[in-house]
Amino acid sequence: MSEQLSLQDWLPKEQGPWALDFEAWPQAQAQRWRAVLAVSSSSGRKMLLGEREADAMLLQSVEARLQSPVRWLRCDAAAVTHWLGAGEADFRALSDVEEAVVEADSSGDALELSALAMSEQASPVVRLLNATLYDALQDGASDVHIECTLRGAVIRFRVDGVMSMVRTVEGAAVAEQLVSRLKVMSELDIGERRLPQDGRFKLKVQGREVDFRLSIMPSVFGEDAVVRVLDRARIEQTGGSLTLDALGFQADERAAIRAQARQPHGMLLVTGPTGSGKTTTLYATLAEIHTGSDKIITIEDPVEYQLAGVVQIPVNEKKGLTFSRGLRSILRHDPDRVMVGEIRDPETAQIAVQAALTGHLVFSTVHANNAFDVIGRFMHMGLDLYNVVSALNAVLAQRLVRLTCKHCARPYSPDAVTLTRYGLKEGEHQFLRGEGCGHCRGTGYKGRRAVAELLKLDDGLRDLIAARAPMSQIKEAARARGMKPLRVMTLQAVCRGETTFEELERVTLDE
Ligand SMILES: [Zn+2]
Repeated sequence: MSEQLSLQDWLPKEQGPWALDFEAWPQAQAQRWRAVLAVSSSSGRKMLLGEREADAMLLQSVEARLQSPVRWLRCDAAAVTHWLGAGEADFRALSDVEEAVVEADSSGDALELSALAMSEQASPVVRLLNATLYDALQDGASDVHIECTLRGAVIRFRVDGVMSMVRTVEGAAVAEQLVSRLKVMSELDIGERRLPQDGRFKLKVQGREVDFRLSIMPSVFGEDAVVRVLDRARIEQTGGSLTLDALGFQADERAAIRAQARQPHGMLLVTGPTGSGKTTTLYATLAEIHTGSDKIITIEDPVEYQLAGVVQIPVNEKKGLTFSRGLRSILRHDPDRVMVGEIRDPETAQIAVQAALTGHLVFSTVHANNAFDVIGRFMHMGLDLYNVVSALNAVLAQRLVRLTCKHCARPYSPDAVTLTRYGLKEGEHQFLRGEGCGHCRGTGYKGRRAVAELLKLDDGLRDLIAARAPMSQIKEAARARGMKPLRVMTLQAVCRGETTFEELERVTLDE
């Protein structure tokens, strides 16, 4: 067995001895790809020993980063884990960037993010940024955070809604250059360092264009940047097709959403925090109900996914095409169903409500914490309460919970305190927890699914809300009609072994 773990046994003997190199291929990278880099002391050849099959794009990007041809060899997971341990202490990323300079580059076209482009870029800062964005796409990160520290910067990704550390950057100058480079790409003012700035840029990755939204914020140590990844391909990957089933809704939830989507008129709102999958749910709903016999028009910021047979209009604030103005034009365009990407201003809310009251079915998203808060949001925007409740058919509040990784899930028994807290009895359910493995990057979670609460309005509930009855009374009435709160739905998922108590606490509030 120990023979299996020796590096020399896996590699060509004639070129040995081989040694692991955690200088050129830092621990963070090795962990991320579950692969270590070995270099031959006689020929200088480089080999990556990984536990998975090589991906051509990954290999190209590695070659660009190392500036040298690299061969990939698939090895035993146990051996890779053993070798990874050898470089545990070394966690220093891309130290060659310290002397880097950023050169300006402001062509309006989408820059190509590929192995070729990465190797052509002379500047290490450009290479570091490109490699970071490339890794973010590979990992399915929704956001890349660059946070300035006293000595440089920390780069973190948000994957499946949770932040994780990716690498540290040494040197305040390098951190500043990284942010400058992002500003150049987004055509922002590089000289402005004291005010927040927002922008966007595009990159071409494997033949497709990916949009990124940039937000810059001055902090104590410099400027912090957050890059949101708007990757259309990611939505396409949700189970191959965009359906409510693929998003993980339960059978009764799917039936209820479909029934709402087939109403002749009124308004269906989806609510939840940023990144809770609201828009994807609306896309799936529209894709399912679209038969070709009705006209569907959407206005979005930006259009994240193209739906066949649906007229989609992107918001263009610079040219004056706002949600409200676009929605007004759409209503003159004879639609049956309208989707408004987001209701965030009183004017859009007003027009959407009017459209719902005059024979259209309107779909939209609103930022709120639960189904009941949506009504409060509309009140704050100064809308007429009676009109809002008359227009509203239903509100779907949703969250995305991370799923326990199937590859490393193990049964366990929660302690008595936990069971009592959630009103559960010992031995009633089989709880599962991920121990962390190569498939889930050591997190114990892989993939996400939607959990939801649906508030359906009937005349009784409408009367209560319009009469400004206390919230407790409205909630009780909704529950009496069979509405199950988010927390209950999520707890059920925990009891089925799909997710954990930690996720339950992360995504829902104990009310
Ligand atoms: Zn796992």
